[in-house]
Amino acid sequence: MASSQDRSQGRSGGIVSGGATEAVTFTGNRALQIEEPLIFEMGQPGRCGVDLPEPPKVKDRLNGLRRSGDIGLPGLSEPQVVQHYTRLSQKNYAIDMGVYPLGSCTMKHNPRLNEKVARLPGIGDLHPLQPVSTVQGALELIDRLAHWLKTLTGMPAVAMSPAAGAHGEMCGMMAIAAALEARGERAQRKVVLAPESAHGTNPATAAALGFTVKPIPANETGRVDLAALKAALGPDVAAIMLTNPNTCGLFESEIVEISTAVHAAGAYFYCDGANFNAIAGRVRPGDLGVDCMHINLHKTFSTPHGGGGPGAGPVVLSAALAPYAPYPWIVKDGETWRVAEDDAKVAGTPLGRLKAFHGQMGMFTRALAYMMSHGADGLKQASEDAVLSANYVMAALKDVMSPAFDGPCMHEALFDDSFLKDTGVSTLDFAKAMIDEGYHPMTMYFPLVVHGAMLIEPTESQAKEDLDLFLGALRSLAAKAKTGTAAEAFKAAPLYAPRRRLDETLAARKPILRWKPSNNPPETDPVKQAAE
Ligand SMILES: *Cc1c(COP(=O)(O)O)cnc(C)c1O
Repeated sequence: MASSQDRSQGRSGGIVSGGATEAVTFTGNRALQIEEPLIFEMGQPGRCGVDLPEPPKVKDRLNGLRRSGDIGLPGLSEPQVVQHYTRLSQKNYAIDMGVYPLGSCTMKHNPRLNEKVARLPGIGDLHPLQPVSTVQGALELIDRLAHWLKTLTGMPAVAMSPAAGAHGEMCGMMAIAAALEARGERAQRKVVLAPESAHGTNPATAAALGFTVKPIPANETGRVDLAALKAALGPDVAAIMLTNPNTCGLFESEIVEISTAVHAAGAYFYCDGANFNAIAGRVRPGDLGVDCMHINLHKTFSTPHGGGGPGAGPVVLSAALAPYAPYPWIVKDGETWRVAEDDAKVAGTPLGRLKAFHGQMGMFTRALAYMMSHGADGLKQASEDAVLSANYVMAALKDVMSPAFDGPCMHEALFDDSFLKDTGVSTLDFAKAMIDEGYHPMTMYFPLVVHGAMLIEPTESQAKEDLDLFLGALRSLAAKAKTGTAAEAFKAAPLYAPRRRLDETLAARKPILRWKPSNNPPETDPVKQAAE
């Protein structure tokens, strides 16, 4: 990170030189790639972008607890602030910039229509504490979205409030725990089964609720080993948490046998619905025997995500679990909508609350806009196109990269690193080289069942020629790696990014989460420095 000191001496110290011929600029900028310090390293103490009146003199009533030093706010003018955040925003690779192949994340296009609708004054300006009589339309919107979700999944109920997929998992597994409690079997059923390929949130959710996680191996086709699953089922099992299509991008073809066996053992079937984008409009999870499933609105039904949010993870519930859906419930009495909250009369025994207010209204609006503008036929087509795109990726790369499993895939194509064997190039190196080609890397090293996994999810959003350019870049990188003489070049990648390789282990183990002012204010006169 360039410090103020670096800046005053020219900022090129912040860049690792990629080779002798590389130009080192005084500013550290590379053409329009601007070096950006932290906001705390900019400006001058006391500078302010707004005109604030002098605070009135008041009697100190803080009993001597008055702050004695500065609080260290950065001092910047309004243009400095605007420029800082605009420059930062341009460092962000985004779905609106190009192919974003992160598998499992479904980085699909977010239609601008969604944004327009989400900003309509009656929606964008809502406040969650408004009187219910003034938000009738918003409640109807939530109910309409709930209707679409129940119809698409073939499930009788949905809890709308969970704030993300992982939160939805928590909600669904809490409903399962409550149902077991009601049966008097909560203490006895302590085990949750999860395939080895499961997303990390599945075992984390189960463990957070006090269950013990038992992994179920995959068979050679990348799907759940049914015999191993049946052997693990018993009176101690509460549930299975299963993703379908699974994280290898494959449809669990024995899903009905799995749900039948799980139910016969008295356990519940939690389906991780993060990959619903592959089957929406084609398969109703309710028909497969699913008891509850979260839907990542921010994956399947557009709505921009990444960088930590926002998201929305409604959970559809079977008739057996529906009574436990958390507050709030949206209920219609005659022509009037109401929000049933704590102690309200509803036909069940809700879990309580999982979240303040009603859920992510902006996400709800975008998801409903997406559904209604696509229509049922359009949603089906989006799923089919997503699967077609992924199989196009698979077909275009399978002679130069190594597909992890035989046969067609669903919405994402999974490769292992065997095509890199003896080249000295790792999955990580390959991904870093993609950055130089102008692409965000695919998901790496996940799922764990595959060595050096590379999981590519093109979604339905990309035009063929854009996908072709991306595939051409990957083919060229694969060919380069296979020459066996390119390891050093790969290890040096990315050459053209503002930062090169970061010490990710150090960053994870010893994160520096707080900027501390240096004790000696640095000399900050670049003109003087340059002259010297
Ligand atoms: C994204 C994802 C999750 C978690 O969803 P969040 O919204 O990120 O909490 C869980 N399972 C799978 C398979 C996923 O891809």
